[in-house]
Amino acid sequence: MFTSSAPPGYIELSGHHSMPFVFLSIFLACLASYTALSLNERVRKNSFFHQSIWLILASLAMGFGIWSMHFIGMSAFSLPVAMRYNHVWTFVSIVPAILASFMAFSLASRPKQSFLSFTLAGIAMGIGIASMHYTGMAAMVMDAVYRYDVWLFLVSIAIAIVVSFVALFVFSNLKRLMEKRVIKIVTALLMGMAVSSMHYTGMAAMTFYTSPEFIIEEHAGHTDMTMLIIPVAIGMFFLLTTLLFSSTMDRYIDYKISYFDGLTRLPNRRQFEKMLNKSSDSRSLAIWNFHNLEKINNGYGYSFGDRVIQHIACELRESDLDFTDLYRIEGNRFAFLVQGVDLDIFRQAMATIALKWKGPLLLEEKWIELSSVCAISFVKGADTHHQLYANALAVLEHPLIKYEHDIILYDSTVHTFSFQQEILNGLASAMKEDELFLVYQPKIFADTHRLNGFEALIRWRHPVHGMMSPEIFIPILEQNHRIDDVTDWLIDRAARQISQWEKSGVPDQKIAVNIPGEYITSARLIAALKKTIDHYQIDPKQLELEITETSVVQSVESAIRAIRLFREQGFSVALDDFGTGVSSLSFLRQMPITTLKIDKSFVDRVPLSQKDSAILHAIITLGQSLNLQIVIEGVETAEQVRFLVTTARSLTIQGYYYAKPMTPDELAEWRVHFSTVLEGDFLLS
Ligand code: C2E
Ligand code: CA
Ligand code: CA
Repeated sequence: MFTSSAPPGYIELSGHHSMPFVFLSIFLACLASYTALSLNERVRKNSFFHQSIWLILASLAMGFGIWSMHFIGMSAFSLPVAMRYNHVWTFVSIVPAILASFMAFSLASRPKQSFLSFTLAGIAMGIGIASMHYTGMAAMVMDAVYRYDVWLFLVSIAIAIVVSFVALFVFSNLKRLMEKRVIKIVTALLMGMAVSSMHYTGMAAMTFYTSPEFIIEEHAGHTDMTMLIIPVAIGMFFLLTTLLFSSTMDRYIDYKISYFDGLTRLPNRRQFEKMLNKSSDSRSLAIWNFHNLEKINNGYGYSFGDRVIQHIACELRESDLDFTDLYRIEGNRFAFLVQGVDLDIFRQAMATIALKWKGPLLLEEKWIELSSVCAISFVKGADTHHQLYANALAVLEHPLIKYEHDIILYDSTVHTFSFQQEILNGLASAMKEDELFLVYQPKIFADTHRLNGFEALIRWRHPVHGMMSPEIFIPILEQNHRIDDVTDWLIDRAARQISQWEKSGVPDQKIAVNIPGEYITSARLIAALKKTIDHYQIDPKQLELEITETSVVQSVESAIRAIRLFREQGFSVALDDFGTGVSSLSFLRQMPITTLKIDKSFVDRVPLSQKDSAILHAIITLGQSLNLQIVIEGVETAEQVRFLVTTARSLTIQGYYYAKPMTPDELAEWRVHFSTVLEGDFLLS
């Protein structure tokens, strides 16, 4: 085959290439490469389909591309002898092309890439192209023989390998340097060249010989070939464009998922951040925060909650603000971002929106109330764009914020962010370093002066702000969803205290802990409680949970379920601050609580005010008729105690009259003192 001499009596033939078909073949090779690269790109992206699907599709596109290039290239070539193709071999020749493409693409798309992997990928691809070509040549049946020029034969293979290597290397490595599409086009051209230059160099390596009697008129054997080329080319074109389309679709879906919110179809937080980071002059931002969506979810279920969110999005979108972009930046937050708009006009537009949910809304035959607030911030200079979002947040996170549909403009003198931030940043170390600690306030049976347990109250000895009242930092922790961690921590500390008392000979002590807001219905709470009593080996009876009316009112049914669960586990549950919330008396009957803590405000003017005394009396009677233990909070004077003792039996009193909240050391001293003052053989030990 590689000898250059012709068989005796044969003459050399000169072939002829039809140029339009040559160009068609090169074009298809480049299109196939472009398609394969696009499909290949999906391998490393998030996609609906598994990565290997894209790898296989890319290999198919490339394999078919190489094959059709060869096929059309061969059809472009005519010899003055009869020529046809063996169908089986023609078909089989596609296999090495697909396999080689698969190997090359798998190597090139591995997460760890090295020069060696590209070399191997280039070799695989090059050999694939060449073996397709030479298998395809073997499928040729004609009245002629051919010889290869060894050097050109080797050069054709070398070209296939080297150009494939360069193409894959360019594609994978220069992505960061050039625009993606440019890189892809350059690479596709290179790959197309690798395929076609291999083919035409391969053809140049051949010399055809035939016996003079076989010579026929040129092109005679070619008419049906031309008939074939057109459908093949069209078929290939469709195949490749379909594949290309699928990768474009996938990329589009990926983009939609990453940058848009599925529920409202609005651009999401990622898109928002992208836009926010584009610096530009004079921008304003309005963030709408909806406060009670979670309550709606809890009350009516998540699918109704979703409807509410869609409704809000719809109303916001329909607000005819052609100068703004609207985003859903968090579950309950929407943002308008505008540029170069007069602040007053912007604020006016937001005020108009606020009217939409000032009153109750009827949605799917349910009346709901939305509670919202809108924070507006604006910046002038291009370099201050990062302030835009921070300022709007500072408005929303201000401790005194209310959700009454107000439009609040950022004001640097009011919305200082730093104190809050300081609290939040310092929290973790405060728990670890015992800056946070518990004090214990005794609760005393009024009739017998016996101790009926303690309430644990939290304190923070802050390195900068000194001793801080919980009324300052608890709301901040609640707003920023950090209170749950603190609650777990304080349950642990209270239980540890009980077990320490136990060890030092003060057994059977009870401690009540304050459980904030909606944490009562969280599965995490019951888990934390169980873990703690197991760890310290204490009886659940020794722990009481104080919950407030307001947290219960938000979702009555789930609260009842949660309270029942705590009771079944042996914990006591007290309703704190009774009378300050909005609960009705029938609601009190439904609650499976053990204890009612009547708020300080009911006892303050007792016994001087007759009216207040009567009300307090009525509440106590009612509570006792429901078999609840009654605790009166904030009792400060002997007159109050006297009144209470004569009003009802078995009351428990908690207040400065008996003791302020104390640290364990102070408490130990107090026990001694208290028992002597009351000639106390009845107290404690
Ligand atoms: P609270 O649960 O109603 O706690 C009773 C508050 O009344 C305590 O204030 C207590 O020191 C105070 N107090 C008790 N007796 C008297 C009295 O005779 N006169 C007066 N004027 N006040 C009395 P404190 O410790 O400042 O706590 C305030 C609020 O902070 C608590 O109200 C509770 O809502 C919250 N809190 C305190 N500790 C914790 C805690 O560990 N976790 C949670 N989530 N909240 C806590
Ligand atoms: Ca309490
Ligand atoms: Ca209270």
